[in-house]
Amino acid sequence: MINEYKKESRALIQKALKGTFIRVPAQFRQEFFHYHRRQLFKFFFQVNIVAQLAYLSYAIADWFMLPDVGLLAIGLKTAYTLLMMGITWGIYTYSKSILLFDLMLPLSIVGASALWFSLLNLSNSPDVPIYLYASLVFIVLANLCVQIRFKAAVLISLCISLILLIGVYFAVSGNIHQLQLFILIYSPVLLFSLYISWNSTQKSRIVFLHSKLDQLNREALNIMAHTDVLTGLNNRRQFIQLANYHIHHQSKPLQPLSLLIFDVDKFKNINDQFGHYIGDHVLQQIAETCRHTLRSQDIIARFGGEEFIILLPQTHLRQAQDIAERLRRAIADDYLELDTLQKLKFTVSIGVAEFGQKNRDLQSVIRMADQALYQAKSAGRNQISTYKTAS
Ligand code: GH3
Ligand code: MG
Ligand code: MG
Repeated sequence: MINEYKKESRALIQKALKGTFIRVPAQFRQEFFHYHRRQLFKFFFQVNIVAQLAYLSYAIADWFMLPDVGLLAIGLKTAYTLLMMGITWGIYTYSKSILLFDLMLPLSIVGASALWFSLLNLSNSPDVPIYLYASLVFIVLANLCVQIRFKAAVLISLCISLILLIGVYFAVSGNIHQLQLFILIYSPVLLFSLYISWNSTQKSRIVFLHSKLDQLNREALNIMAHTDVLTGLNNRRQFIQLANYHIHHQSKPLQPLSLLIFDVDKFKNINDQFGHYIGDHVLQQIAETCRHTLRSQDIIARFGGEEFIILLPQTHLRQAQDIAERLRRAIADDYLELDTLQKLKFTVSIGVAEFGQKNRDLQSVIRMADQALYQAKSAGRNQISTYKTAS
């Protein structure tokens, strides 16, 4: 039963992790974006600001390499850097979109490379044919920090490549030999940089999927630790925790509170006559009847072998007796169909006790209900009995 917990989700993640090309299944995609928003948002902000500053610093190189357009380069690059920093700050402060931030660096490099080549083409410097190779760094930078959207990174990389190739073509005045040389040097850099972004996007998916799987496994273990395997009800430890929490977090004036303990009558006979397997079915059926008969606020648990316990919030003794009687009757009316067309009937005896205004001690009220249960047993079973306080 516990292994059933979010079984499909866990299987889906395990399957996704086995693939060569890791994809995040559609149902987890929003969570994936949220996860990386938490992990990467600050990093994206910082890396964009640093990259903009690095780009601006190239204006100094422009000053030496392209002296005829040096001032223009400083002016345009400063303006472009300020614009991109403004957009970066805007996304960080207002948009909060991780998808946009993921592509902010490659997108800003589209404009940066166009601006770069415009300057190269305006300049008559003899260093242009050498200096244009510095543009290789654009494609590396564009792909260095992409973490989420690989396909979009490929598209933007192609766009940057087109700008570079057109830019180089004009910068070398249509010299095909020079263009071929650039392509030969550029292509491996392009492929390498695309590999970097593919690898990073795969890694970020793997990290997310592992963390999601861990979370689901932890939840499954947690449920296992507080659930009774046979009936799916709370186990004893969980009951004590929930009940104590309820008792100690009540606001004043204290609300009425009652407790039932019941035990299957002559259960040993059922086991002896029909076997443990049928006995187990009886316990499961009783648990099901409890779930149907009781209210959602009632805390139900399997307390021991064939003993169950129920905390009834906001319930006076009289109401608790009514609930106990209703439950007793529902179980007595129920039966288990055996293969032989035989119907197996079973009954329970129930002890009822109420918490006093002064006595809010769980253990002592459990003892009271237990005493009442044994009165019900001695009085002939299949009945309820109430613990009578001395007062
Ligand atoms: P009484 O009416 O006095 O309660 O009689 P009883 O036979 O129910 O009481 P007793 O305590 O003698 O027997 C309880 C039996 O419950 C003994 C034990 O083998 C059985 N039992 C406890 N846990 C399980 C379980 O998980 N599955 C099955 N099938 N039997 C269980
Ligand atoms: Mg018993
Ligand atoms: Mg019993």
